[in-house]
Amino acid sequence: MIDDCNDPLTLAAELFCEDEMDLDAIEKSISTVLTAIGEDVDREGLIKTPSRVARSYEELLAGYRMDPKALLNEAIFDVAYDQMVIVRDIEFYSMCEHHMLPFIGKVHAAYIPTDKVIGLSKIPRIVDLFSKRLQVQERMTTQIAEFIEVAIKPQGVAVVVEGLHMCMMLRGVKKHDARMTTSAMLGTFRKDMSTRMEFLDNISRGAERRLI
Ligand SMILES: [Zn+2]
Repeated sequence: MIDDCNDPLTLAAELFCEDEMDLDAIEKSISTVLTAIGEDVDREGLIKTPSRVARSYEELLAGYRMDPKALLNEAIFDVAYDQMVIVRDIEFYSMCEHHMLPFIGKVHAAYIPTDKVIGLSKIPRIVDLFSKRLQVQERMTTQIAEFIEVAIKPQGVAVVVEGLHMCMMLRGVKKHDARMTTSAMLGTFRKDMSTRMEFLDNISRGAERRLI
């Protein structure tokens, strides 16, 4: 967790997992799950399933092994600009930590610089860093906002996440339109309602609000 952390390097170390993912252990576990379900792990369609699942976890959960320090080092520029920077409709794919089922959707992020800006193409990378983990949407939203805050110390940061949760759509209450909106407002976005409204107006304007 990055609460109370104002040092980018400490933050980077906490977020980064140096050990490689143990694909063999995942494969063995998936075989166990298949057997427990009542499946025949040796039937043709399933023979490669444990290794496919392991490799898909490697991709879907790649955020643990993305180096946040490298991301920060290459992406921060001194620029005299103090207006709102907005990046909207950033697609994300994550996995809910309660059920290990996907939740997917869009992230909208904004900040008002103090004296530094972050490379625009890096904002989607920051979203990947936090979404490609076992997550809850609320924490992911806060982490993205706090990461931008720690990285460039702007006047304020705003992040809104809209997500569709498979664990709600497919099981339990079976709500087929189980979308959830979360937001994190820091600095000026929290204190100043007109700043917050400017951002919220922008992300709702002209947007076809379909997540998938
Ligand atoms: Zn869930």
